[in-house]
Amino acid sequence: MKPQELVQRQRNFFKSGITRDRSFRKKQLKTLEKMIRSNEEIIMKSLEKDLAKPRFEAFTSEIGILYPEIREALRNTGSWAGPRWVPTPLIHFLASSVIYHEPYGVALIISPWNYPFQLAMGPLVGAIAAGNCAILKPSELAPETSKVIALLIEEHFDPSYVAVVEGGIEETQALLREKLNYIFFTGGTEVGRIVMENAARRLTPVTLELGGKSPVIVHNDAKLDYAAHRIAWGKYFNAGQTCLAPDYLLVHRDIKREMIVRLRSAISSFYGSDPEQSPDYGRIINDRHFQRLSELMSSGTIVHGGKTTPKTRYMAPAIIDGVTMDDRIMKEEIFGPLLPVLAYENMGDAIDIINSMPQPLAIYIFTESRAVESRILAETSSGGACVNDTLSHVGSTKLPFGGIGDSGMGSYHGKASFDTFTHRRSVMKRSTLFDLPLRYPPYNEGRLRMLRRLFRLIG
Ligand code: NAD
Repeated sequence: MKPQELVQRQRNFFKSGITRDRSFRKKQLKTLEKMIRSNEEIIMKSLEKDLAKPRFEAFTSEIGILYPEIREALRNTGSWAGPRWVPTPLIHFLASSVIYHEPYGVALIISPWNYPFQLAMGPLVGAIAAGNCAILKPSELAPETSKVIALLIEEHFDPSYVAVVEGGIEETQALLREKLNYIFFTGGTEVGRIVMENAARRLTPVTLELGGKSPVIVHNDAKLDYAAHRIAWGKYFNAGQTCLAPDYLLVHRDIKREMIVRLRSAISSFYGSDPEQSPDYGRIINDRHFQRLSELMSSGTIVHGGKTTPKTRYMAPAIIDGVTMDDRIMKEEIFGPLLPVLAYENMGDAIDIINSMPQPLAIYIFTESRAVESRILAETSSGGACVNDTLSHVGSTKLPFGGIGDSGMGSYHGKASFDTFTHRRSVMKRSTLFDLPLRYPPYNEGRLRMLRRLFRLIG
C-alpha cells in the first residue's frame, strides 16, 4: 500500500471515533500484551539473528521491560483519558474549566536497530493508550526483527489502526512527506534533525529520542567494586550499542589505577577470559559500524580487550587509557564496547569536560557523598541521571525517559507515554445567567480604573 493510501485509511479509521473509546484502547493493549507473550521465542530468535543478542538480554531489555508499561497503561488509561476539571480564576466569575485529553490522530513511530523490538513497541503502548492510530517504521538494519514486527502486527491488528511499513531511508522519507498528526522518532541526532525538518514543514509535533555521549563520574569515595560491576554491565550490555550506555569514564586521579583493575575483573567475571566464547556477549550490528569502531580504537592505549574478529563482527570489551579530549573517540558517540578513561583532579574539571560537550542522554554518578551528587546534578544538564548505577532509570514506568538538547526532546514511559501522544484541549464554559459589560468597547478611563482595582484585588 502506498504511504498516502495507508495514512488516509488510518485517518478514516480515526475519524470513526472508535479509537477514542476507552474500552477499545484497553482491548488493544491486551491484544498487544498477548501478541508479545505468545511470541517471545520468535522475537528472541530474531534478535539473536540480528544482533547475536543473548536470550537473557533479549528478554529483559526488549520484552520483559514492555510488560510493566502495558500493565500501567491498562490500569490507568481509563482515568488518564478522562476529562479533568480544574479551578477557574475569579476573573472568569461563574465559569467552569475542563481539560479534555484527546488523541492526535495518526502517529508515525520510527525506531532504530539497537533495541529494535522494544523501541517500536514501547512508543506504541503510549500511542494506543492515548487513542491514536499508528504506523510503525522499524529499522532496516535489524531486518529479522523488522520482519517479525511486521508479521505479528499484521496478524493481530487491523492495518487501518496499526500498520508496519518496512524499509530504509527512502520508505521513511516517503512517510515523512505525508501529513501525519504526530511523529515519534528514536535514532541518531543527525537523522533526528532530518525528521524534525520534515515535521516543521507540516507543523507536525515530534518527540525525538536521540543519543549522545553519556559520561560516568567515579569519585574517590565511591564503592569501587559496585561501581566497576555496574559500569561494566551498562557499558558492555548489547556490546555497548545502547543509547544511554556509559560512553566515557571520568575517574578521580587517586583511584584510576584501582578502578581499571576492578573493571577488568568485572569484565572477566561476566564474560570469562575469552568473551568471544561467551554466549552472554553480543556482536556489532554491521560492517560499517564495526569499521567505525575499529578506527576509534586507535585513540589512546588499550589496557583491556582489543581483539576483533571482522568476520563475525566480534569486538572484545575494551578499556582505553591515555585518551585526550582531542581524540576522535571523545568527539562522537561511541555506541560500541569501548570505554575511554579520563582522570580528573578536581570535581570542577570533570564538570567542565561534561559541559564542554552537548547535553547527554544520561549522566552516571558514583559517590557516597550527597554533596558531590548534588553538585554534579546542579552544575550539569542531561536527559536523565542515575546515582550509583547505570541504565536502571530507563526501566521505571514512574520516570519519564528522554533527552535534552542534542540528546532529544520530549519523553515517554508510564504516564509520560500517554501524555506524549495526547493533546490537552482546554475548554472554558461561561454562564449565560448574566453578562458583565465591563470588558466591551467603547472603553473609558473609569472602567479601566475599576479593572485595575479588580486585577490588584485578585492578585
Ligand atoms: P538512525 O538515526 O540511523 O535510524 C533510525 C531510524 O531512522 C531508522 O528506522 C532508519 O530507517 C531511519 N532513517 C535513517 N536515516 C534516515 C534518513 N536520512 N531519513 C529518514 N529516515 C532515516 O539510528 P540508528 O543507527 O538506527 O540507531 C542508533 C542511534 O539511535 C544512536 O545515536 C543512539 O544513541 C540512538 N538511540 C536513541 C535511543 C533513545 O531512546 N534516546 C534509543 C536507541 C538508540
